[in-house]
Amino acid sequence: MTNPPFPTLSQQNRDLLVEALLQWSLGNGLTMYPPGYESLHAVANAPVTLFPTPMPKLAFNAAIAVQQPFNQVYANVVLKKQWLVDVIKVLGAHDPEFTGRLFDTYQKSLVDGKPVQPVSLGLFRLDYMVDTETNSIKQIEFNTVLVLFGGLSTKVGQLHNYLNSQGFYDDNYSYEYYDKDVIPVLPSTVELARGLAKANEKYGELTKPDNETVVLFVVQPNERNCFDQRHVEYALLNEFGVKLVRVTFNELAAKTSVREDRLYVKLTMDQVSVVYYRSGYGPEEYGSEIEWEGRLKAEKTLAIKCPSILTQLSGAKKVQQELTNPEILAKFIDDSEAIEKVQLTFVNIYPMDDSEAGLKAREWAQDPQQCLKFVLKPQREGGGNNVYKEDIPKFLEKLPKEEWEAYILMELINPQQHPNLVIRNSEVFSETILLELGIFGTVLFNEDDGDIYHNEGAGFLLRLKFSSSNEGGVAAGFGCVDTVCLTE
Ligand code: ADP
Ligand code: MG
Repeated sequence: MTNPPFPTLSQQNRDLLVEALLQWSLGNGLTMYPPGYESLHAVANAPVTLFPTPMPKLAFNAAIAVQQPFNQVYANVVLKKQWLVDVIKVLGAHDPEFTGRLFDTYQKSLVDGKPVQPVSLGLFRLDYMVDTETNSIKQIEFNTVLVLFGGLSTKVGQLHNYLNSQGFYDDNYSYEYYDKDVIPVLPSTVELARGLAKANEKYGELTKPDNETVVLFVVQPNERNCFDQRHVEYALLNEFGVKLVRVTFNELAAKTSVREDRLYVKLTMDQVSVVYYRSGYGPEEYGSEIEWEGRLKAEKTLAIKCPSILTQLSGAKKVQQELTNPEILAKFIDDSEAIEKVQLTFVNIYPMDDSEAGLKAREWAQDPQQCLKFVLKPQREGGGNNVYKEDIPKFLEKLPKEEWEAYILMELINPQQHPNLVIRNSEVFSETILLELGIFGTVLFNEDDGDIYHNEGAGFLLRLKFSSSNEGGVAAGFGCVDTVCLTE
């Protein structure tokens, strides 16, 4: 790319760009409901950047290339159950109301020590930052449940390509400001839908249902980000001819019935091939026994779960920490080239237990200087739970020592920062943003015999957080979605 990363536009041209961006977003469903929305037709554009954000091509390609090996590692973590079960038991003891309860639900779902449906579907997202010193990708976390923005990410790439092709980024003429191939668009929506379709097909092969089957989509009530979900639904129907039925987590038990281990939607008696959770990742979503009942009910059927409880639990940060140990990683992958690719993405992550490494980490975490290099993470998902830098010693002081081993201590990545313009609720904000690259992957595998039926990368998402916040929840309002413009 020969141009500087961001075009400079006159006020008039910038206004035209903003108008084009907002109308493309509303016209193409790059949308979200505003916070506390009451009316179903009052949509807003999803927070996006005006311009794609520069990212080194090598780093981007490395992240894309390592997704399949990572899918395989996590599938194998679930397959080789005993190791995972041992890790989860320790975590469950510290967190009985969630991790413990989830594990307990898994155990209750087993029949003669085996899951009723051993086939499991993972729609994963691996999050990275590009480290400023080395220009290489470093892993933040591996998400195994409720991955967001697979539906919107392709749209952001299409939006920026449209603005470029129509010449909105050119201040004088209507030329393309960016070379065509520097703003990649990958079909994440269709690829996630393909994962669900593959699971639906596998269900058909295994259980020979009499009629057409449906995917049961378990969502949160009043979901602001429902368009992200709807795009996956539309792709599933249009590309693969598979219907999807939405229920809230709270309705899962009441709106389904089970006959001969098969799960049905009560109202239509459609047979459910896949239960796809876009809820249920943290304790706050299990507001009552009804949600736990729904989870157990689904788990005890032949429907393929996305994710199964064990697959969800494999996303624990403790598992991520353990996998940075080469001896442990070697249990789950044997291809040396793949191991090298995977390891290059790791920063140091330490246990907080009483092992040798753990004792060292405890020292660093309490030291007012050393702690500045780290983030302390509990076993929770969804943002807002981590403790950063100078807050770590104070936090640990109040935490009983027996609880420390439920945490991990992770080196902070120093991510690239860029100025960019962000549109939220039609207003343009000038922000310095940190980029987080999320790579999607889909894997369909058999928890019992180790067969992997489908293992693919599924596109990417660029999520930005404003440099003023430690965490970047887009739906929570302090981040936005974006796409990359690849640089040499
Ligand atoms: P959660 O499960 O809550 O999403 P994450 O591990 O993804 O937890 O951390 C939340 C956010 O904190 C990340 O999206 C990232 O912005 C920031 N973060 C996490 N780990 C690191 C790290 N090692 N270095 C820098 N920032 C980090
Ligand atoms: Mg995260």
